[in-house]
Amino acid sequence: MIVAIDGPAGAGKSTVAKILARRLGFLYIDTGAMYRALTLKALDNGVDINDEARINELALNTNIDLRSNTDGSLSVLLDGEDVSLEIRKPRITQYVSDVSKIKEVREVLVGMQRKLGEKGDCVLEGRDIGTVVFPDAQKKFFIDASAAVRVNRRFKELKGLNQDVAEADVAKDLSNRDKIDSTRQVSPLRKAEDAIYIDTSSLSIEEVVQKMLEFCK
Ligand code: C5P
Repeated sequence: MIVAIDGPAGAGKSTVAKILARRLGFLYIDTGAMYRALTLKALDNGVDINDEARINELALNTNIDLRSNTDGSLSVLLDGEDVSLEIRKPRITQYVSDVSKIKEVREVLVGMQRKLGEKGDCVLEGRDIGTVVFPDAQKKFFIDASAAVRVNRRFKELKGLNQDVAEADVAKDLSNRDKIDSTRQVSPLRKAEDAIYIDTSSLSIEEVVQKMLEFCK
């Protein structure tokens, strides 16, 4: 069974997706981590983020793997190297939406995501899972929250990762990414018609997970 989870940045998708996957005994696939890993490779290779042809070529020659750890966390391997922490840094977050709006890049990464998803039961999380990657997913969710809540959650999460960030900068980043992600020409962020909409603004993590589990039964 495929569980598709989409929604804007900071809505709590990763947190609930990870827990849901563990409770269901499913594989967890964080597709945003894959776009982040490719962005890291582009930046580390000095590739201009606007050079679509080179980024596309890079995508075709990149291996991105996701490994679930026993503690429930996920390791992201870029050409065999663990980049799990590096891809969360602001220098990646700042450019990831520009990389992920490139049509050919999406074709390559969506192909990888479908291959991973075809391995068996899994929970995939991203922006276009229910609309493009797995339009026939058995369960689809659109996880949302108010802008203020999303900024605050992301701010706390980054602080937890020991990142020295200002809340105002987090707000700017989220609104910038939301804009690019939802207005891009290829696979813009939007709720699939048959997705269950959950506003998590005033819900605890456990309440959201319980709601999702009920729908998955
Ligand atoms: O989920 P996360 O915030 O880590 O995703 C980082 C970025 O990757 C998003 O802002 C979006 O630009 C891109 N993304 C995407 N499609 C997905 C997952 C993420 O375009 N399925």
